[in-house]
Order: sequence, then C-alpha cells, then structure tokens
Amino acid sequence: MALREVYKPKDITEVLQLLDKYKDKGKIIAGGTDLIIDLKERAIDPEVLIDIATLEELKGIAFKGSYIEIGAATTFAEMMDHVITKEKTPALVKAARSIGSPQIRNTATIGGNICNASPAADMLPVLLALDASIILKDLEGEKTILLEQVLKGKGKIDIERNQLLSYVKFKAPVDGEGLSFEKLGFRKALAIAKIALGVFVEVENNKCKEIRIGSGAIHNRAIRESKIEDYFRGKILSDAVIEEGSELFQEEVRERLINRSSGEFKREAIKGIFTTAMKTALSTIKS
Ligand SMILES: Cc1cc2nc3c(=O)[nH]c(=O)nc-3n(C[C@H](O)[C@H](O)[C@H](O)COP(=O)(O)OP(=O)(O)OC[C@H]3O[C@@H](n4cnc5c(N)ncnc54)[C@H](O)[C@@H]3O)c2cc1C
Repeated sequence: MALREVYKPKDITEVLQLLDKYKDKGKIIAGGTDLIIDLKERAIDPEVLIDIATLEELKGIAFKGSYIEIGAATTFAEMMDHVITKEKTPALVKAARSIGSPQIRNTATIGGNICNASPAADMLPVLLALDASIILKDLEGEKTILLEQVLKGKGKIDIERNQLLSYVKFKAPVDGEGLSFEKLGFRKALAIAKIALGVFVEVENNKCKEIRIGSGAIHNRAIRESKIEDYFRGKILSDAVIEEGSELFQEEVRERLINRSSGEFKREAIKGIFTTAMKTALSTIKS
C-alpha cells in the first residue's frame, strides 16, 4: 500500500467519518513525532493519514467540576505553559518538560504519547498515578475508559481503528493529596526514560489513605505498581516505612527484569528514584 492522501478534517465528526470510511487503511497523525518514524521504517503502511494536529476541538486544558480535561491534540509545550496544569499538577508539567527537545515538545501531543503506548512514554506514569481516564469517540458515540485498562503491551493499546482519543481526564489533586514525577534517563536532551515514576499520595490523620504508583520502562508497558501500593496503604509514611517500601520495590524489579541486561542497573536505581518520588509527592501536599 502506498500513502496516497493526507486529510485535514475541519472537525471531529469529519475525523470519525474518515476513520470509518478508511478503517485499516487510515491512520491518525497528530504531531507525527512517532508516526513519521514508523512510516520511514515501514512499521506501518497506511493509505491515508488523517491530520488532527490543528483541530481546535481536540486542543486545550479545562476544569470541569473537580476534573481537569486535556484535549488529545494538546502539545507538551502547551501543557507546560497552561495555568491549570502549572497550578494544579506541576508533576505533569515536569513530565512534559522532560520530553525530547523544544522542537519535539512544540509538536508532540499527549494523545500521541498515550496511543503510541511505549513502555517508556513519559506521560503514562503520572497519568496512571492520577488514575486518568481517556475518552474515545466513534460514529456510535463516546465512551470513557480507565487508561490503565487500555495499555496492553509495548506499542499495544486497546483502541479500535475507528476510534479517536478525544481527551484525557483526571481529578485535580486537592488538600491532603500530593503528586510527583521522577525520571531517570541516560542522555540529557533527548533522553527516552530508562525509569519513570508518577506517585499520587493522599494522607489523612498522618496515615497513607490512598497511594497510586505509575511506572514506566520497567515492564513491557507502563503499569500501576499495585503490590507496592498495598504495602503503603494505612501506614504512617515515615522515612523507615518509605525505605522498606523502596526495598520491596527493588525486589519486585529484580524479579521482573531477572533476564534483562538492564535489570541490575534498574534494580539499583529504583530505590533512589522511588524514595525521591515519594518524598516529593509528600512535600507537595497542602493542608
Ligand atoms: C527525538 C525524539 C525524542 C523523544 N523523546 C521522548 C521523551 O523523552 N519521552 C517520551 O515520552 N517520548 C519521546 N518521544 C516520542 C514522542 O515524541 C511522543 O510519544 C509523542 O508524544 C507522540 O505524539 P505525537 O503527537 O507526535 O503522535 P503521532 O506520532 O502523531 O502519533 C503516534 C501514534 O498515536 C496515534 N494517535 C495520535 N493521536 C491520536 C488520537 N487522538 N486518537 C487516536 N490515535 C492517535 C497515531 O495514529 C500513531 O499511531 C521522542 C520522539 C523523538 C522523535
């Protein structure tokens, strides 16, 4: 199949009609920072591209009740600059800032980062920590689904070819809740995460009422670290408890990456990066 057309639809309805018309032959392009590489490497072979990069309906960041909604075609640069993300989720801004180079951040989108489903995608750990949902649209209507439920493996995401990711939503952290993002990469400017963590923590009466830990690049996909979360729930988050939890995390990573060349490095590194992520999340709690 050869690429024969690039459409620039005027609105979401037209995107959905094109997706329905071309089915497996059509592919959405947003910033193109992942897709163009896939095209060049012939990893994909669409006949038609549907360009959503400038669709206003898919852009922007807004408050809806207690939720923050981010349009799928919002770029990382836009997320870094927006008053809502800057005030309510500095950890998400930090994750956006850590991505690629200024050129990449000016074009790459949150929706593309999710749909590309790289195990090392930097948005995913912090969005998992926020328990984010994604909103998928097709000609039949729309459905909301937890991000955690659609991530299936390296490059594998449970989104049909006729579905458009239209926006991401999550509850804005409130008093008593903290959020952090930490990333350990090798190269400075264009580092792809070697380990990334997002931590959400809610403290009540000095104890950990809720915790969500999203991790990247230590599994075949970004995941929630439920075993480590279970350890912390109900405990007072003292230095000793955090130390014990980080050792548990180390053991988990050791078992998971036992046959991987990067296993030993990641097992060593996880302790420090997790301790920092926990302490940073706690330090962001407002009372
Ligand atoms: C030099 C370089 C450095 C990079 N550094 C990092 C880094 O540090 N951290 C990191 O996480 N990533 C990094 N990336 C990867 C990339 O920039 C991100 O994954 C980016 O967020 C992808 O977004 P995009 O808009 O460019 O997606 P595109 O390339 O346009 O699309 C990616 C995939 O998602 C699909 N898609 C896009 N939007 C939608 C939608 N709304 N609905 C349904 N499907 C959709 C496309 O069909 C395609 O399959 C880097 C890439 C490069 C080239």
